[in-house]
Amino acid sequence: MEPDDVLAGLDPEQRQVAEAVRGPVCVLAGAGTGKTRAITHRIAHAVRTGVVDPQGVLAVTFTTRAAGELRQRLRMLGAPGVQARTFHAAALRQLTYFWPKVIGGDPPSIIQSKLPLLIDACRLIRKNPDKSELRDIASEIEWAKVTQLAPDDYAAGAAKAGRASPVPVEEVARLYEAYERLRRERHLLDFETILELTAAVMTEHREVAAQIRQQYRYFVVDEYQDVNPLQKLLLDTWLGGRDDVCVVGDPNQTIYSFTGATPRYLTGFAVEHPDAAVIKLVRDYRSTPQVVGLANRILAKARTPHRLELIAQRPDGPDPVFTEFDDEAAEGEGVARAVRKLMDTGTPASEIAVLFRVNAQSEVYEQAFKSAGVSYLLRGAERFFERPEVRQAVVLLRGAARSAAAEDDLAPTVHHILAGIGLTPEPPGGGTARERWESLNALAELAEDLATKGADLPAFVAELERRASEQHAPPIEGVTLASLHAAKGLEWDAVFLVGVTDGMLPIIYAETPDQIEEERRLLYVGVTRARAHLRLSWALARSAGGRRSRRPSRFLDGLAGRPVASPRAAAAPPRERRQVAAPLSCRVCAKTLITGAEQKLGRCAGCPADLDEGLLERLKSWRAVAAKEAKIPPYVIFTDVTLQAIAERVPAVEGDLLAIPGIGRVKLDRYGEAVLALCRAASA
Ligand code: ATP
Ligand code: MG
Repeated sequence: MEPDDVLAGLDPEQRQVAEAVRGPVCVLAGAGTGKTRAITHRIAHAVRTGVVDPQGVLAVTFTTRAAGELRQRLRMLGAPGVQARTFHAAALRQLTYFWPKVIGGDPPSIIQSKLPLLIDACRLIRKNPDKSELRDIASEIEWAKVTQLAPDDYAAGAAKAGRASPVPVEEVARLYEAYERLRRERHLLDFETILELTAAVMTEHREVAAQIRQQYRYFVVDEYQDVNPLQKLLLDTWLGGRDDVCVVGDPNQTIYSFTGATPRYLTGFAVEHPDAAVIKLVRDYRSTPQVVGLANRILAKARTPHRLELIAQRPDGPDPVFTEFDDEAAEGEGVARAVRKLMDTGTPASEIAVLFRVNAQSEVYEQAFKSAGVSYLLRGAERFFERPEVRQAVVLLRGAARSAAAEDDLAPTVHHILAGIGLTPEPPGGGTARERWESLNALAELAEDLATKGADLPAFVAELERRASEQHAPPIEGVTLASLHAAKGLEWDAVFLVGVTDGMLPIIYAETPDQIEEERRLLYVGVTRARAHLRLSWALARSAGGRRSRRPSRFLDGLAGRPVASPRAAAAPPRERRQVAAPLSCRVCAKTLITGAEQKLGRCAGCPADLDEGLLERLKSWRAVAAKEAKIPPYVIFTDVTLQAIAERVPAVEGDLLAIPGIGRVKLDRYGEAVLALCRAASA
């Protein structure tokens, strides 16, 4: 590839980024505008034109999966050998390398979770927090370490930052102190300490700093809006006063503030580097105008000084679909059906993702996909080669490779070895067994793939080792189930955003306006992952027949402007068919209705109502009496909005009553007669 070919696939602004090969560069741009593309081409261009050696480049990004994507794109652009890593992976490599030289002895072991140490720390200070408190305390310690607060400074820092501490701040501080003491005594490293120590070793040992800076001269950081103070410290230490640094990010995709990250480094880059080239990209190449339109509408409602309006470049696609379900299981089934349909019409499973706010939500979809025979993968290819089953498999395969006969067929041999540690022909049920199986199956498929290219077992093992060192996980075929946080930077043809209720998005514990805005940005990140098909859904109740107390996310208020798909469409199983479709448009102004409340009323909240006030009063009195008799709260019978909807529509027959969302068979059987009697009296 000629240097110019690398630039050919870029628009003028992206080209500007790629051609600004030296000095500080900052790209501030919205989702899908080609930031990641621009930096990969910039690196390839710099390498091809001899501005920098591939080994001199360090590209840093957020997740191992994103780093893998970067490496893949760079390979395709003819720039292999460029290091693309997460901050952690890059730091860990340097720390492990220099540890024996400057500190001596074995490097410490790395802990994947703070909880075991934290539990011991609790014992030390005789505290016994419950599991969720423990997790919250661990997050606080993480935040304190990331923002560089010592235990003694935690209380003041937490107050200043308005942190809602899970237990009294003094207690967090004591636990933090005890946790750190135990961690040092036991010779362990957590993720934050890896970064901190790498920076410290460089600062204290000039020869280490010199060697690292001699190697890395050219820095590129993707997703810079979510860099935290500790990562910034490490980046500055790497740079050591030099300014060959290019950062790209989107302030409206800041979704890690709660962990201590801040978009200030991105938005303040030009102040920090007055000679920086600041380039903006506005064309969205990822998504259809329909998806981009929704993303823009979400952003228009955000409290943000960076109102970047995306301009869609792709041809039209389907409208985003909003679907309300009765309960979570119905939502899971509905999503699985829609996924099947997409797959049947040619969308590969690997081009479909189901994204949710918290990991616990994945279970419903695992179940539904299992029943529907849809293969899925639980998380991305994160840390594939660190999974215990993969390590075990690699050890066994390596052993077998040493004694392998040349005529052994690769695929059957690998299958045989993996079967010994749990690879079955069919995937087992959900959870960890399923994850384990997915890993082993991915290894088996990789072996089959290489076998067709004539590889033998030693070659396969060598390939695994190469992939492990580059964190290049084999593709796992299946629908991705991932959290919104894990999805950033990625894209799929079809995206299902599920559980979009108030309480889940925004999550219930987001209280301050800043926290609510971060939740809104999460929705923005989710929506902008879709290339073409985008479906948002929510369930009114947790379980079948449960209280339908949920409402769609407030972020969707007034946003849809698109038909609300009925989950009870044709071919639906009986449980769904019994209910009626939600009214689609306002009976006053005919605008599409999106919120549960507006659908119930059958009109926009702002449109004039033809309300029978007398009837509403009588309905309320009736409800009070009925609730008292049944010893249940009145809203369990009918919410105020449902009563208002009844008083506006004055239903005459059962069918009219059923047509009001929120009134199903059960309610009709129980209260229909009484309500209809009141309505008939009112009409008379
Ligand atoms: P995010 O903010 O989500 O990380 P991004 O700005 O990094 O998005 P990319 O992932 O680089 O965007 O690009 C989005 C999609 O658009 C990719 O599939 C990319 O290949 C494509 N794309 C970007 N620029 C162009 C272009 N000039 N021509 C064609 N396709 C492009
Ligand atoms: Mg990107």
